[in-house]
Amino acid sequence: MSIQIYNTLSKRKEEFKPLEPGKVKMYVCGPTVYNLIHIGNARPMIVFDTVRRYMEYKGYEVNYVSNFTDVDDKIIKKANEEGVEPSVISERYIAECKKDMEGMNIKPATKNPKATEEIGGMLDMIQTLIDKGHAYPAADGTVYFRTRSFKDYGKLSHKNLDDLQGGNRSLLVSGEDQKEDPLDFVLWKPKKEGEPYWDSCWCQGRPGWHIECSVMSKRYLGEEIDIHAGGEDLIFPHHENEIAQSEAANDKPFARYWMHNAFLNIDNRKMSKSLGNFFTVREISEKYDLQVLRFFMLSAHYRSPLNFSADLMEAAKNGYERIVTSVDNLKFLLEKAADAEMSEEEKQLVTEAQGFETKFDEAMDDDFNTADALAAIFELVKFVNSNAKADSSKAFLEALKQEIVTLSDICGLIVDKKAEMLDSDIEALIEERQEARKAKNFARADEIRDELLAKGIVLEDTREGVKWKRA
Ligand code: AMP
Ligand code: ZN
Repeated sequence: MSIQIYNTLSKRKEEFKPLEPGKVKMYVCGPTVYNLIHIGNARPMIVFDTVRRYMEYKGYEVNYVSNFTDVDDKIIKKANEEGVEPSVISERYIAECKKDMEGMNIKPATKNPKATEEIGGMLDMIQTLIDKGHAYPAADGTVYFRTRSFKDYGKLSHKNLDDLQGGNRSLLVSGEDQKEDPLDFVLWKPKKEGEPYWDSCWCQGRPGWHIECSVMSKRYLGEEIDIHAGGEDLIFPHHENEIAQSEAANDKPFARYWMHNAFLNIDNRKMSKSLGNFFTVREISEKYDLQVLRFFMLSAHYRSPLNFSADLMEAAKNGYERIVTSVDNLKFLLEKAADAEMSEEEKQLVTEAQGFETKFDEAMDDDFNTADALAAIFELVKFVNSNAKADSSKAFLEALKQEIVTLSDICGLIVDKKAEMLDSDIEALIEERQEARKAKNFARADEIRDELLAKGIVLEDTREGVKWKRA
């Protein structure tokens, strides 16, 4: 079966067809880094990491780009409060965010571009938009996008331009009297006292928020990409504006599939910094293994709102532990099992166990229904618990364990606890191996390679350096 993805553009599920066979180009809007991330921000991270993992399991090579917005009013405000440069704040919270992501077992992106490092590309794209008549500088150097010049404006959020004009006050920004049309939005704005700025031919200033994603997506993935994703609050205006900028500048469709996760709520209201009704990932990690948070997030379909509660977290803890216990039990049996070949009956049982993988795949193929996919893992666990015996063969137990670990790993759930190494530990050992090689201590270098291999980590020496993957 092929993968079906609900596309916000068409408002229906569509068969996933990559632009290039075997490859997926995916861009996920990342956080604004001025504070520790909250578990609402963690929802898109976990959801789209799981999408990526499933695509990889299906054999696709996924180029996964996710930005850090490191120039923003809130970052500047915090920097001024602390009396430091904005980059001190953004670098601090990028590092903290990466720590949280590692705890949630989010695979590192292929690239995490930062807005402040992409200003040149933004200036180029803004100039292209001006040259094509899609943007204009106002007297004070603010550059606006001429929204009505892009005939498809509103196609993602299914809004009509005239309705927007009448009703949407949020589109109006200060300096609106300079705008040709209230619908026009900012691409570049003049600096204010105490703000970071860059030179441009319009004024010294900084970019509007939307332009960064159009530019980074183009630079790292190309003009047309497969999947663009984020939380549903980004549909309008952020993603609508990204489409307008990219398609007007490149004369090409931007992203084929637009995926949006629903909100993580608390007391049925969106968890957000501004409402103050949030828990940071760090706070949750003091009480729970972050694997439990991951399990909790995946227990609902990503397009359904999910209400955070202590009860649901306890249920997630029990669910996650049920899988870990089953694997622990298999490991216990494996230590004592005979080295014998699989019996015919065991072979038959393994085939049956693989049937749960088919169920799992069917759920994931259906717009990444992780709730049903977890249910398939539970059925597998139940099956394993009743069929793994003290007299089972090693090969049989190993096959069952592999089945559970593989499916859990697609969900990013670490269930073979002792065997799993942290990315940072792996990288430290790789570093030590490089040092050993430099010192011509090849025996130690080989020892490290073997040690990693024994833990399921495969190294590959490439011209760009050492790459590693979990086998
Ligand atoms: P921000 O830092 O606010 O730009 O958010 C980063 C990402 O988190 C975006 O994709 C948002 O849509 C997403 N997000 C923020 N709050 C929530 C929430 N309560 N539930 C789900 N996603 C959220
Ligand atoms: Zn974005």
